[in-house]
Amino acid sequence: MTVTVRFAPSPTGRIHIGNARTALFNWLFAMNNKGRYIQRFDDTDVGRSKQEFADSILYDLHWLGIFPDVTEYQSRRVDIYDAAVERLKAARVLYACYETPEELDLRRKVRRTRGLPPVYGREALTLTPEQVAEYVSDGRRPHWRFLLPNFTSDPLQPERTEVRWNDLVRGEETVDLASLSDPVLVREDGTYLYTLPSVVDDIEMGVTHVIRGDDHVTNTGVQIALFQALGAEPPIFGHHNLLTTVSGEGLSKRTGALSIESLRQDGIEPMAVASLAVLVGTSENVTAAHDLNELAAHFDPAATSKSAAKFDPDELFVLNRTLMHQMPFEEARDRLIVLGISGDKAESFWLAVRGNIDRLSDAVAWWRILSDGPQEPAEFSGEDRDFLHQAFDLLPEEPWNGTVWKDWTGKIKEATGRKGKPLFMPLRLALTGRTSGPELADLLPLMGREGTLARRP
Ligand code: GLU
Repeated sequence: MTVTVRFAPSPTGRIHIGNARTALFNWLFAMNNKGRYIQRFDDTDVGRSKQEFADSILYDLHWLGIFPDVTEYQSRRVDIYDAAVERLKAARVLYACYETPEELDLRRKVRRTRGLPPVYGREALTLTPEQVAEYVSDGRRPHWRFLLPNFTSDPLQPERTEVRWNDLVRGEETVDLASLSDPVLVREDGTYLYTLPSVVDDIEMGVTHVIRGDDHVTNTGVQIALFQALGAEPPIFGHHNLLTTVSGEGLSKRTGALSIESLRQDGIEPMAVASLAVLVGTSENVTAAHDLNELAAHFDPAATSKSAAKFDPDELFVLNRTLMHQMPFEEARDRLIVLGISGDKAESFWLAVRGNIDRLSDAVAWWRILSDGPQEPAEFSGEDRDFLHQAFDLLPEEPWNGTVWKDWTGKIKEATGRKGKPLFMPLRLALTGRTSGPELADLLPLMGREGTLARRP
């Protein structure tokens, strides 16, 4: 059977790095198993779901290197869920409930004071036809609950009923169905909550592996029961730990915190995001993978820790710098052209500066310094100025070979007696206007003799 996974966000905001973790776990799992990846939008909540968010999620995924085999929207599949509802009703495992939220709240409180778990007591199953008729004539519409299979013959006497699965990430997992309320599958207005459409789609779309955050572990107990009620074999489940901020807060799509979009705008490379999103909170070292194939080779769902993974955005900058330092010119070329960096010097320019930049766009400032001179000319003491005049007079004639910097500074040292920082710093300042940066030996040939002399203070 073809391994088939899906990433199923609700399109209610931009995705953040934690969502990217789920998407990438699925994508890499599919890559490693020659499988299919379905992009599914869980957009049954019509009030909060927006097409523009779905579009931006697809954009962000493409940016990360994820190209779904198919894209599905739950809002377009309601007929299929309706048919499943009819089957569950016919099997008498979906039942109508008429309680208002206030009534349910009150009941929970009563149960708590009696020392009972605050789960739904299945009171709707005890309604007489007259009571139902009364609710209906009052204009109440039912919501529908799934009768969890946690009893022998009397649903009002639930018993410990363990659902077990071997989790791809967490190993043996157990959920006791008697500790849970019968989940509401259909709201009063006929719209669906997430639980049922997800199962129906996983069946219909042939999903073999459900890889998602560990906030869904309890749902899995319920959903396995639902797969069985619909006569289907449950898929294999894997629940990865969630990412939190350094102070331990969860990430939210709604707040836009650490959104993929904002990281892109900050100049973070997709592979820096992907490397951290996948490797943080696992037994693998967090290093910058250069492409998803390399990352896939380091990816093992079972190597993921069970506790929350703290995520430090500063690590993204560290990974980004590594990617910059190692980026071959061929990879940078087109992006540099867009930044106005092209021509026969572009390659040696890139190789000279890549080790000194945090993000690709930082190359622009260096390109300007090399083509137009220091952005702000440096101030020099009278002594340094004299030194520099002497130094510039010693600049070798062209043609230059690869040792021009060494030859030049050798002559300067000999003539002026300066060495080390007092020799190099005034030169660096005069040539670039900055106190640090790429090797001057690499920059000098890019400036040429004329360009160098133009920087004589
Ligand atoms: N829409 C659900 C979520 O974003 C999907 C969970 C699942 O993968 O089943 O949490």
